[in-house]
Amino acid sequence: MFVPAATWEQRVTYVIAQPCIDVKDRACVAECPVDCIYEGGRTLYINPVECVDCRACEPVCPVEAIFHEDDLPQGWARYKDVNAEYFESVSPSGGHGRPLVGDGDHPYVAELPPQGSRKKDIAVFAIGKEEAEEADLWFPL
Ligand code: SF4
Ligand code: SF4
Repeated sequence: MFVPAATWEQRVTYVIAQPCIDVKDRACVAECPVDCIYEGGRTLYINPVECVDCRACEPVCPVEAIFHEDDLPQGWARYKDVNAEYFESVSPSGGHGRPLVGDGDHPYVAELPPQGSRKKDIAVFAIGKEEAEEADLWFPL
């Protein structure tokens, strides 16, 4: 059954943004009670249809990649759609019922240059969400 884009908009809750790309340590996966975090080639994605908005994943991410959609830094606002569109491409209803381990990425993610080494250096300092408005300085596109 086709689900209109507006329905997706309403369902997005927590979002994985740019810091996960090329890090992917999967700490969030172990915390999710409904197994709605799926692995792509370079990052993980939260299925907005399956997410129950519990926030269990957010504090365990070592690179502060997980945000509620209302708290996404402006520079990473695109990731709200990136997470949703990743699943739309698999199934118009959004519920694909199977993990996508290593099964490619959203085109927006796939086209980014390598991200890993610089972020791991920065993660040592454990930047907080209060610094997220400066995210573009830490992780420029
Ligand atoms: S908010 Fe809860 S349900 Fe949603 S992805 Fe995180 S752990 Fe899973
Ligand atoms: S905990 Fe953070 S860096 Fe690790 S896989 Fe989840 S979103 Fe990516």
